[in-house]
Amino acid sequence: MGLRNTSVESQVERAADDPLRVLVVGAGIAGVSLAQSLRHAGWHPVVIERARDERPPGYMLALMPMVDPLIDDLGIRPRYLAESVELGRYAFRSHAGRALRTDSMAGILDRFGDYRGITRGRLLETLADGGCDVAFETTVAAMTEHRESVTVSLVTDGVAREREFDLVVVADGIRSSTRELIPGATPIEVVDTGWAGWVVWAEADADTDLAEEIWGAGFILGTYPVKGRVGVFLGGPADDLQSGPAAFVDTVRAKLTTIAPRVDRALRAVADDPDPYYWALDDGRAARWTTARTVLLGDAAAGFLPTAGIGAGMAMESAWVLGRLLRHTPAIGLGEVLTRYEAAQRPRVEAAQDNSRQLARYMFSRSRAIAVVRETTMRLLSVEVVLRPIRRLLEAQPDPGRIASGHGSPERAAAARHAAGSAG
Ligand SMILES: Cc1cc2nc3c(=O)[nH]c(=O)nc-3n(C[C@H](O)[C@H](O)[C@H](O)COP(=O)(O)OP(=O)(O)OC[C@H]3O[C@@H](n4cnc5c(N)ncnc54)[C@H](O)[C@@H]3O)c2cc1C
Repeated sequence: MGLRNTSVESQVERAADDPLRVLVVGAGIAGVSLAQSLRHAGWHPVVIERARDERPPGYMLALMPMVDPLIDDLGIRPRYLAESVELGRYAFRSHAGRALRTDSMAGILDRFGDYRGITRGRLLETLADGGCDVAFETTVAAMTEHRESVTVSLVTDGVAREREFDLVVVADGIRSSTRELIPGATPIEVVDTGWAGWVVWAEADADTDLAEEIWGAGFILGTYPVKGRVGVFLGGPADDLQSGPAAFVDTVRAKLTTIAPRVDRALRAVADDPDPYYWALDDGRAARWTTARTVLLGDAAAGFLPTAGIGAGMAMESAWVLGRLLRHTPAIGLGEVLTRYEAAQRPRVEAAQDNSRQLARYMFSRSRAIAVVRETTMRLLSVEVVLRPIRRLLEAQPDPGRIASGHGSPERAAAARHAAGSAG
């Protein structure tokens, strides 16, 4: 079944008798997660997506255990396990490529749930297991919020049609353009690291459970297994990438005294890829997530730097919480649902985002001297210390039932802020 290209018209027809007519903008990880959560409650959210119906594999994702409640709610755990690999070990190499340490992820994350590698494409198809209607090549041109509804102008094939919804969920990613159409658009705070990188695929090796990183002087190399291959990220200061992947790979090779086989394969994959995906390492944080009838979700609300590898995890958690809370709309009203959602979830997501920002300051450096000092610290610090703020978030997992009853947020928000304060 999976994602099905379905016109806006037929989706709107099916949604007519729902307790709430919901439009989800963006069939990415957050949008599909929320849509499927609502479908499991018997609703028929209308989902639109700007891209063509092409299903590329996309890039690699390492998913933390905060995705598990959604996976279980949707009843897709067997397929999720089949489509992904367990990431049981995390290794660090020195700035010169020597093996520094390998930590077992068991014991750090095990008691919270799974830590797994999967491609974005397989994740979307897994979330859409059972069928998820999406109108591809469709965008929003305008939005007007009224007291009782939102009028949205939807454009497919250059033709605009106005539709009424009770709620618009804006889930169109880190560079969301739809959020700018919300009346009184909220300011977006951006941290731009000045670094960027390329994302490519390399051949799989026998270490299917091993994620590995080199935090170099002026570069970062990460390799992350998924099923049947290894995702590679090679990044550096954006200015140094101007001369292209092959030239940058040469400068990285020159800095390495040890080139392990996987590192060699990863660097070759970057140099040889005719069109590697270029990723500018900045983020974005919306000051406000909700109006009376709109809500930002996933990266459109808070887009992440990749350093902690948690953006998709938080997007799926937020979608799960929002999906559960929306079911309480008939009892407590949409305004109250959205207010309680933002009060509970925004501090958690921002704490995770702060952690990624702090890690970026630690990881992204040109200096060899800093790399050497960092490695001395890393000999003593395990991945457990690096992940401590995330563990704190996992220890205080959200409880949608409590949030709906108005008791879910203050102490959790304080715990999340505390976690962020001691990050990095
Ligand atoms: C290379 C890379 C590696 C990553 N690795 C990890 C990781 O290991 N672990 C992790 O947790 N996170 C990771 N992330 C972050 C994660 O991918 C994001 O946090 C996550 O995808 C957010 O989900 P989203 O649905 O908000 O956005 P997206 O998944 O980006 O989805 C947004 C969707 O909206 C669509 N869209 C855009 N504009 C419009 C529009 N105007 N109208 C309609 N549709 C629109 C897009 O085509 C897209 O399908 C990584 C990100 C990248 C780029």
